[in-house]
Amino acid sequence: MNGLMMHEPLLISALLRHAERHHGEQQVVSRLVEGGIHRQSYRELATRARQLARAMAALGVQPGQRVGTLAWNGHRHLELYYAVSGMGSVLHTLNPRLHGDQIVWIAEHAEDQVLCFDLTFLPLVEALAPRLTGVRHFVLMADRAHMPAQTAIPNLLCYEELLAAQSDAYDWPRLDENAACSLCYTSGTTGNPKGVLYSHRSTLLHAFAAALPDAFNLSARDAVLPVVPMFHVNAWGIPYAACLAGAKLVLPGPGLDGKSLHELFEAEGVTLSAGVPTVWQGLLAHVQGNDLRFTTMQRTVIGGAAAPPAMIRAFEDGLGVQVIHAWGMTELSPLGTVGVLKGTQRDWSAEARRAVLAKQGRSVFGIDMKIVDPDGSELPWDGQAAGELMVRGHWVAAGYLGAPQPELDWFGTGDVATIDAQGFMNITDRVKDVIKSGGEWIGSIDLEHIAMAHPAVAMAACIAARHPKWDERPLLIVVRKPGAELTRDELLAFYEGKVAKWWLPDDVVFVDAIPLGATGKVLKNVLRERYADHLLRSA
Ligand code: AMP
Repeated sequence: MNGLMMHEPLLISALLRHAERHHGEQQVVSRLVEGGIHRQSYRELATRARQLARAMAALGVQPGQRVGTLAWNGHRHLELYYAVSGMGSVLHTLNPRLHGDQIVWIAEHAEDQVLCFDLTFLPLVEALAPRLTGVRHFVLMADRAHMPAQTAIPNLLCYEELLAAQSDAYDWPRLDENAACSLCYTSGTTGNPKGVLYSHRSTLLHAFAAALPDAFNLSARDAVLPVVPMFHVNAWGIPYAACLAGAKLVLPGPGLDGKSLHELFEAEGVTLSAGVPTVWQGLLAHVQGNDLRFTTMQRTVIGGAAAPPAMIRAFEDGLGVQVIHAWGMTELSPLGTVGVLKGTQRDWSAEARRAVLAKQGRSVFGIDMKIVDPDGSELPWDGQAAGELMVRGHWVAAGYLGAPQPELDWFGTGDVATIDAQGFMNITDRVKDVIKSGGEWIGSIDLEHIAMAHPAVAMAACIAARHPKWDERPLLIVVRKPGAELTRDELLAFYEGKVAKWWLPDDVVFVDAIPLGATGKVLKNVLRERYADHLLRSA
């Protein structure tokens, strides 16, 4: 016997409709690529999204077809999020930080029909356009005044003119909630990138979960500023969760340096933010270096890479900002676990609480996880046993675009983790980054965290270096803070008492910069290419 409840499909257009009707006056504030701050209400967002849906349909975009974007976090990108998915087509957010060849490969693989891009990326698109043979229309996300007088791009269209030509008389179609709504390629350091195709249903369920108190804790009283780009796993779902909660949305455009971010946090009363550790490093350096404070900021989500405990302390103790350490990945839309205390842990000592909160956290409802040994047998939740992390749930990918795996029951994350008795997961490494010394595993992330806690260290990465006796040994690659002095021996002495002796890195290489990938993560494969033989050379 079926329940007697309405069946409202879980559609992205429902989020926009809700935001328009119930939070119509709420603000979306954007730092524009063209300069200046732009403001619109959710009511205006909804109106313009309807105009845009009509404009896309007029360009011949069909349901299921892909519309690519190369854009920062801004109101026009948000309009595309809602218009393209809402009309039943698929929003494909391309990462402009990738190499041009990769962008072309991904856009062709996705069969993007239209490419919408910010003014910043005009030179990039001009260079790539001749190779983007599948793209039928190029749209510059700007008004007429910012259109180039001359360009190599054939029939370049003006976003604001496309909108102005349309009324907002448009009814969002009642789609199947399993229809695809957006597409994001994994950053993949090896092999070709793979397309993760989200559905309306998975995106809505993810948005509900992201807004929960023990996740982002998003309310109508929040002003949320996603530093994480809208081209990196849909800015971790914040553009959707903000409409669901009726929160103010503050979009930083290309201004991701510490000064621009701090100004925007203060000017717009931002209460919540989210981003990868490397971005927070720049912000912290600016705030600490200039003796600044946050007057409204209450909490920030850090994920995408491990948040160093020293960074968590700097936010919490130094600036009174709660850090929410989260783990996820493109294939998980991206939210998997969040580090927020359970009631029973509130009375723990400050040190014990801090240790738990440095972990990547516990499952949000909707994601189940386990750790397994190389044979696939489940390992105990004792906080000690480490194995590959497997996940399943309502917003986990079942295969990739062009390579579906509908029968997949657990998804192998490629991360190595422990899980403790309270269900808190701690990532110790990527499977491919683990250091295998004399048959034993050494976790590179722990070793990096210790180095990052040294006052003279700006950034540290730990890689496996080949070793004649032990196969692999840890090698530290370190960037010193500007003006700071630090020797190899001083840094290694700092490890004493913090790790077992055999975990001690064999050597330290000081460099000016550590290479970062397109989503702000350390490119360990590049470091390994450069330094894998370092210990053999110095032996
Ligand atoms: P991406 O799909 O580009 O978002 O990358 C996902 C990967 O980033 C995960 O599989 C992890 O290896 C890593 N990652 C994400 N969040 C964290 C975190 N909080 N701590 C450690 N690694 C993380």
